[in-house]
Amino acid sequence: MANLYGGSLLRVDLSTGEIKRTPTTQYSDLWLGARGFNARILYEETNKETDPMGPDNVILFSVGPFTGTMVPGSGRVEIGAKSPVTGIQGMSNMGGYWGPELKYAGYDSVIVKGAADKPVYISIYNDKVEIRDAAHLSGKDTYQTQDAIREELGDPEIEVVCIGPAGENMIAYASVHTRLGNAAGRTGMGTVMGSKNLKAIAVRGTKGVTLADPDRFMELCLEAMEVQKPLLDMGKTTDLLANDPPTWALTLGNYEASKWVKQKDLRHGHKPYWERHKNRQGQGITGCFNCQVRCMDYYDHPEKGPLVAS
Ligand code: SF4
Repeated sequence: MANLYGGSLLRVDLSTGEIKRTPTTQYSDLWLGARGFNARILYEETNKETDPMGPDNVILFSVGPFTGTMVPGSGRVEIGAKSPVTGIQGMSNMGGYWGPELKYAGYDSVIVKGAADKPVYISIYNDKVEIRDAAHLSGKDTYQTQDAIREELGDPEIEVVCIGPAGENMIAYASVHTRLGNAAGRTGMGTVMGSKNLKAIAVRGTKGVTLADPDRFMELCLEAMEVQKPLLDMGKTTDLLANDPPTWALTLGNYEASKWVKQKDLRHGHKPYWERHKNRQGQGITGCFNCQVRCMDYYDHPEKGPLVAS
C-alpha cells in the first residue's frame, strides 16, 4: 500500500450483488484527492444519457491522501454522483469520522452502481464487505439508523453514512448524514442513495495509514495548526460557548474580513437574533476528526439523546 492511501477502490453493484476491489493507483497518479477520483470516475462511467435516478448512475464516497492523518481538518468525505438537482456533476462533502474509518479499512473510495430491489445497507469491516437487508431501517431518521446499525453489528466504533425518510422518498435535495449533525446537503446525493435503495454504508477499519516520515509529518501538522489558529473565529457562525454574538457578525460579507471594526456595535444590539440565541448554550463543544475549529455545540437532550447545533 502506498503511503497516505488506503490502497483500494471498493466497487459495489447493487443490481448484481457483485463486490470487487481495484487498485487506487489506477487513478491516484493523475487525479489528486477525493474530488479528483470522483470527477474522473463520473466522467468515465456516466454520460449525458445517464438518468441521475436510474441504476446506471454511480455514487462515490471518496477520501483524499490526507484523510485520517494528523493534518488538521482531514476528517471529511466527498460524495459525488450525477445530480438529480442539476443534471450534471453533483458533489457534496461532510466531516465526522466516516472518511478516516474508510481509509483505515483500506479503501480510498466506495463506488456504488446499480439499484437494489429492496432496502439494503453496505457493511465494511476491513476486507469483509457485505450487502445487508435494511428493511428494518426504513423510515428511521439518521440518528436512529446509525444507532440501529451499531447495535446490530455489535460494534460502537462503527461509522455510518446514511439517509433518512427524505432520501428514502427521493425528495430532490435529500442529504446524506453521519454522526451528530454532519450533513452532505448539496446536489441531492441522498436522493441518489434513495434511488438505489441504499439506506446506509457502515464502516470499521483497523489498518491505520502509513507515512514515509511520521516525525517530520507531525512537525508540519503542528505548524499548520499554529497557522490556522488566528483564522479559527472565521469558522464559527455563532459564538454560543461565549454566549456572545460578535463572531457570527464576521460571517456577514461572505467572510471578507477576519476583523470587522463595527462588530462591537452589534453586541446586544441585534435584538431579534440575540434574544433568540442568548440562552442557547450546549453542555460542551464538539467537532469532527482532527479539526480544531470544533464548531458544534453539544446537547444531551433528556428525551432525544445527544444532539448538536452548528
Ligand atoms: S468541526 Fe466544524 S469546521 Fe471542523 S470539519 Fe467539522 S464541520 Fe467543519
